[in-house]
Amino acid sequence: MIAIKDNIADVELQISSACQQAHRNAAEVTLLAVSKTKPTAMIEQAYDAGQRAFGESYVQEAVEKITALQNKSDISWHFIGPIQTNKTKLIASHFSWVHSIDRAKVAKRLNEHRSGQDTPLNICLQVNISGEESKSGVLVDELPELLNTIADCDNLCLRGLMAIPEKNASQASFTTMQNLFISLQKKYPSIDTLSMGMSADMQLAINAGSTMVRIGSAIFGARE
Ligand SMILES: *Cc1c(COP(=O)(O)O)cnc(C)c1O
Repeated sequence: MIAIKDNIADVELQISSACQQAHRNAAEVTLLAVSKTKPTAMIEQAYDAGQRAFGESYVQEAVEKITALQNKSDISWHFIGPIQTNKTKLIASHFSWVHSIDRAKVAKRLNEHRSGQDTPLNICLQVNISGEESKSGVLVDELPELLNTIADCDNLCLRGLMAIPEKNASQASFTTMQNLFISLQKKYPSIDTLSMGMSADMQLAINAGSTMVRIGSAIFGARE
C-alpha cells in the first residue's frame, strides 16, 4: 500500500524547502492534492493525514467521489480540467473552486448554474502563456475581454490565475505569469491566488510567487 501520509509529508517538505530557496514563507503556498483517477479510499487517507484541498479533472468521476465523501464537509473541491459547456451545471453545483476557465461562454454558464447557492464559485482564469495552438487557456491579449465578462457574473468570485507551463519552460514564463498576477491584483482586490506548479516545476513556480501548487502522482502514485 502506498503511504499517502508519508508522501504528503514529503511534498510539504519540498514546498517548504522551495519556499526557503525563494525567500518566501511556506504558509503562503497551499498544497492542492490532485486525486483524479484515484479511488475514494485514497482521498480518505489523505484527509486523515490532514489534507483538505483536492483537485479533480473529470466531471463524472469527480461527482461520484464528492457525493461519496459529502460527510467530510470541510473538503474544498477544485475543478482543474478542461470544461465542456454541457458539464457546467454539475461543476457549479459540486465544486467550490474552478481553475480552468478560459472562455466567456463557460464563465457565463457557471455563473447561471451557481445562482441560488450560499457562496459564489471561486474561479481562476487559465492563461496560455506559451501561446501554442494546442494548449488550452486564454491568450494574454484576450484576457481583458474575459475579465469584463466576469465582472458581470455575481455568482463568481475572481480569485486569480492558473497556468500549465509547457514542459521544460524557463523561469521567464513563470515570471510572466507572476507579473500578470501582480498587475491584475492592483485592479481586482479579490485576487489572491496564483495556481501554478506541479511536481516537476514546483521550484520555478514558487520562485515566481505561486500560491497554490497542484500535485498528483507524488502523493497518490503514478496514474494508469
Ligand atoms: C493532473 C494534473 C496535475 C497533477 O499532475 P502530477 O504530475 O500528477 O503531479 C496538476 N495540474 C493539472 C491541471 C492536472 O491536470
